[in-house]
Amino acid sequence: VTDGAPRRRRVVIVGAGFGGLSAARRLDGHDVDVTVVDRNNFHTFLPLLYQVATAGLNAADVAYPVRSVFQRHQHVAFRQATVTGIDWERRLVLLDAADPLPFDHLIIAVGSAPNFFGTPGAAEHSFPLYSLAQATGLRNQVLRCFESADAQVAHQRDGTLNFVVVGGGPTGVEVAGALGELIDKVLARDFHTMDARRARVILLEAGDRLLAPFSTRSQRFARQVLTWRGVDVRLGEQVTEVRPDAVVLASGEEIPTRTLVWAAGVRANPLVDQLGFELGRGGRIRVAADLSVPGHPDVYVIGDSADIAAGPAPDATGDGAPRLPQLAQVAIQGGRHVADEILRGEGAPRPFHYFDKGIMATIGRRAAVAELPFGPPLRGMVAWLAWLGLHLVYLMGMRNRASVFVNWAWNYLTWDRGPRLIFAGSGPPTAGAPTDT
Ligand SMILES: Cc1cc2nc3c(=O)[nH]c(=O)nc-3n(C[C@H](O)[C@H](O)[C@H](O)COP(=O)(O)OP(=O)(O)OC[C@H]3O[C@@H](n4cnc5c(N)ncnc54)[C@H](O)[C@@H]3O)c2cc1C
Repeated sequence: VTDGAPRRRRVVIVGAGFGGLSAARRLDGHDVDVTVVDRNNFHTFLPLLYQVATAGLNAADVAYPVRSVFQRHQHVAFRQATVTGIDWERRLVLLDAADPLPFDHLIIAVGSAPNFFGTPGAAEHSFPLYSLAQATGLRNQVLRCFESADAQVAHQRDGTLNFVVVGGGPTGVEVAGALGELIDKVLARDFHTMDARRARVILLEAGDRLLAPFSTRSQRFARQVLTWRGVDVRLGEQVTEVRPDAVVLASGEEIPTRTLVWAAGVRANPLVDQLGFELGRGGRIRVAADLSVPGHPDVYVIGDSADIAAGPAPDATGDGAPRLPQLAQVAIQGGRHVADEILRGEGAPRPFHYFDKGIMATIGRRAAVAELPFGPPLRGMVAWLAWLGLHLVYLMGMRNRASVFVNWAWNYLTWDRGPRLIFAGSGPPTAGAPTDT
């Protein structure tokens, strides 16, 4: 207290992803001072990362500077730093290269990281897709494999042109479909002096179906479309080892490749391991019904970092209860909920109710599946148009929307793709993407 007025409460939000930004926007204009911390100075629209990785979009189209979001918001500040821990006694957020930040309320929204399930070599030699750096790393790799195969004939036969995607969930399906199109329709023309059709895209899934959260008809549709488009879809195949030049399957088969895209699963960001909270499924922080951490009423966890029981009456031990999925909407709605809880102040905590807006996945040009809470499941062109429209609406910033729209229209009309640029060094293809930044 300085001049007799009560001090404004300080809210620190760790992570400027879907959840963090939604909480900050909701808190803006109220009687609190908000600081958003992120290791990057931009927000990444993760659902379109695979298009950056397959040269459909520019990196800048799917990222948006956090400072731009809050340019006109006097009580929302931004700090670019990596959070290294929390000092609970002094209520400080500890940062790698910045002064610690004091807080009255803390919102943790640090998202996910790839889960390699202890598969030997996967962390070192595969290409996960959880950051812009990883997306451009994968794009460089695919293009460099083609350059290398064109330059040295031996590389046309040694697996350099095999692109293996592990994981048949939405991300794996999207990447496999987009890689198939990139190779078939674009790189085959770019590399007309060699037989680019030697290149293969192989999608490996350990379970017996693709797109597990979707209906059987959508799953079958996805598989058919991918197969028609030349993707070798293999179900019931588990990866046991990843080497720089091959992937080894449980059957003992070795597929030569230098490019293994890891889309087999996510776990909570490793930061949450250090916070001393009870962890639930996927290493996520177990939260109470109001998304606060049990025993820490001023600390909330939202989005992918939180292990949230589905439904209004979560089971305290939680093990058998269904959980909310790792989706942008869960993070966005969770962000709004905790902001409202903080603003409400006094009173009994109110449980978070998730409104399910449905699920969608695109398989490639004119092919997607969408299962919305109302109406019949959509497949094909209609679902694809719905997917395009919704992603444009949720993308941040008018410039980005305009750029993505123009890129999509151009790609659609000409089959051409824009950013086929190799930014990394001009050496041979590597095994392993840049680490997450
Ligand atoms: C390739 C891909 C495709 C996807 N497609 C879809 C889709 O189509 N539809 C859908 O609903 N969901 C999709 N998802 C999931 C969705 O993106 C996530 O559920 C959502 O981003 C979770 O939001 P969040 O706020 O919890 O975390 P994120 O949005 O991941 O944000 C976390 C933020 O925390 C920052 N951060 C992390 N660690 C630190 C640290 N130590 N210090 C400071 N900052 C830190 C990160 O830089 C990041 O900005 C996709 C995810 C991926 C990876």
